[in-house]
Amino acid sequence: CGQLRLYAGMLTDGSWVDARIDHADPARQPLAKPDTRSMLRPVGPVVVFGASNFPMAYSTAGGDTASALAAGCPVIVKAHPAHPGTAELVAGAVLAAAARTGMPDGVFSMLYDAGHEVGQALVIHPRVKAVGFTGSRAGGRALMDLAAARPDPIPIFAEMSSVNPVFLLPGALAERGEKIAAGLAASVTMGVGQFCTNPGLVIVDRSSDTAVFREELTKLISAAAPGVMLTAGICRNYALGRGRLGALPGVTKLGAAPETGGNHGSPAVYAVDAATVLGSDAYTEEIFGPSTLLITADGPAEMLALAESFEGQLTATVHGTAADLAGAAELLTMLEQRAGRLVCNGFPTGVEVNHSIVHGGPYPATSDGRSTSVGAGAILRFVRPVCWQDFPDAALPAELQEANPLGLARTLNGRRA
Ligand code: NAP
Repeated sequence: CGQLRLYAGMLTDGSWVDARIDHADPARQPLAKPDTRSMLRPVGPVVVFGASNFPMAYSTAGGDTASALAAGCPVIVKAHPAHPGTAELVAGAVLAAAARTGMPDGVFSMLYDAGHEVGQALVIHPRVKAVGFTGSRAGGRALMDLAAARPDPIPIFAEMSSVNPVFLLPGALAERGEKIAAGLAASVTMGVGQFCTNPGLVIVDRSSDTAVFREELTKLISAAAPGVMLTAGICRNYALGRGRLGALPGVTKLGAAPETGGNHGSPAVYAVDAATVLGSDAYTEEIFGPSTLLITADGPAEMLALAESFEGQLTATVHGTAADLAGAAELLTMLEQRAGRLVCNGFPTGVEVNHSIVHGGPYPATSDGRSTSVGAGAILRFVRPVCWQDFPDAALPAELQEANPLGLARTLNGRRA
């Protein structure tokens, strides 16, 4: 509901359409200058793939649907098979609201699937103009390839895998190692680790005092309660991922909560040296669930090399004192190139829904690192700019008419007015 209200507020204000007006100058030499006016318009019908891990915030009426409807696009949801009942209840509420507010038939619909058939048919349907997806890298990539192979390729905004590295700089560790361990353990185990922003990698410098932090993190993770995971498949994948990581050369298990069966995911923490991680991508693959890998680097240069080696991420976090941060300019610049959101002295789980948030990042965090799937900016995925050249005022959309009847903030001859 918070997301729906955010977009409702944007529509009420109206200025989000980014109206730009450049007045004509018939006397300009050597060529007369035309009158041009542009604004953002909806791309057309959008297909939204519901997410297994967010039955509300990312599914039937979640951020993708809300931002697409706000942009002016009809939405067809492909319900996620993990929560069909919730999907149906929410779809009923959306349809009732559409009827009550006099929206046209077909503004919203939802389909179920017992395999990939319906989802794939939707992505290649000629009338579909964009896709929003949250899920696995394999699923997102398959849909990206399908969208690109259409006779008329369409944009697909897929939010896929991210391991959200957390860098702990020496001053911060010395100052509050125990507190950082407590915050990190809570972030790793929150929602049985099934958040796209779950901190899967923690990087420390060998020269810093890591003993208290390490001991506390191990203790807290080992004592954390296992929880029921979203689906049997996600629980199976988590166990497989942990098994794969635990068997990699150089990895040691620092601690883990007991296995309790019954689709429970048990929190776990592993450790490895940075030099080992730098030799293979296998150590930094997403393990969707409550586990994290502590990586020990030999000094700032190796920390920087690690950051450079990482794939695109939704978030990157740094814990540091003012002095730590002043000495970490290169690391911060590198992280800016790797992630959509940089967090300082906090934890990446918990995504604010507002005007400045970015929930996106370079591939494979998302299919298009220029976008965000949360917050006001998410609407920009489902619009395209259209320019009207030399149109009479009465034939222009109200947003672009000379008298500015809607009272929008616009860009007039290059200046924000
Ligand atoms: P998923 O397997 O990618 O499925 C997501 C949606 O995409 C489902 O509706 C699925 O439909 C559809 N789909 C998947 N592959 C497809 C294909 N080749 N063609 C057409 N449709 C396809 O993700 P999931 O079910 O949510 O969870 C599986 C794994 O994804 C998790 O274990 C986790 O590793 C990862 N995951 C990551 C995030 C994240 O935010 N980073 C979030 C959720 C999940 P059907 O199942 O109906 O075929």
